[in-house]
Amino acid sequence: MQTLAGDFRRQDRTVAFVPTMGYLHDGHLSLLAAGRQMADILVVSIFVNPTQFGPGEDYDNYPRDPERDRRLAENAGTDVLFMPEKDQLYPEGYETYVTQTHLPKHLCGLSRPTHFSGVTTIVAKLFNIVKPHYAVFGEKDYQQLAIVRKMTADLNFDTRIVGAPIVRESDGLALSSRNKYLTPQQRQSALSLNRALAEAQRMVAEGETRAETIIEKAVQIITAQPETEIDYVRICDPETLEDAAVIDHPVLMALAVHVGQTRLLDNTMLALQSGEQQ
Ligand code: AMP
Repeated sequence: MQTLAGDFRRQDRTVAFVPTMGYLHDGHLSLLAAGRQMADILVVSIFVNPTQFGPGEDYDNYPRDPERDRRLAENAGTDVLFMPEKDQLYPEGYETYVTQTHLPKHLCGLSRPTHFSGVTTIVAKLFNIVKPHYAVFGEKDYQQLAIVRKMTADLNFDTRIVGAPIVRESDGLALSSRNKYLTPQQRQSALSLNRALAEAQRMVAEGETRAETIIEKAVQIITAQPETEIDYVRICDPETLEDAAVIDHPVLMALAVHVGQTRLLDNTMLALQSGEQQ
């Protein structure tokens, strides 16, 4: 992969890169379509990265279907499908990690303290291997996107990070490989995540500016559903991820909820209509 990537750069062919953990769905495919459009070569990686899973998390059970993924990636116009083995990227004696100081301390980082150093480490390694001109990440994992953007700037990677919007099922559930774990009843409960975000948008459109009031309502909507347990519901600055008490500029509303054993994420931006800006 590294030799190929060097050849592409020498031949002045631009490379777009989409890193994934596989079990591809339409959310991933939207990233592949965006990457396909922006560069000469589309590289897709599939690697379930052990260093971003904490103890007791679902690394061993993470859904995998490499044959189906291969077909989907090929149909989406992928030029190179990179599927390294765990021991190739983390051979015995591996001991170097990339960590970031501030952004990982918020949102998901509070309940998954080692997760983002696993993410920054694998993304840095993949960037050094694939040498992409563009890399596409989903806004579904908003904090990951923010952290990768910051890492790319801080470490001077020659790669432009592109964010892609959340792809949802027709009933509003954000697509995720982990949705496969949900029973039909849990899937019903999971719809409350997007409903809570839609209600927040409605409240803001009607002039509500207090984050606390909006969060309370979201918590009510989600906890009314069986088998839900909230990890966090937060309204924060989209750059720093620091809590925002008042919606006086566009803010991020992000949530993480356990539905049964499955931890789901969703988020949206909240902004007053321009006439209402204070
Ligand atoms: P994953 O395989 O879960 O690590 O995700 C690989 C990439 O796909 C990440 O950049 C995710 O943010 C993105 N992604 C996952 N689900 C969605 C979705 N529903 N809409 C858009 N992008 C997504």
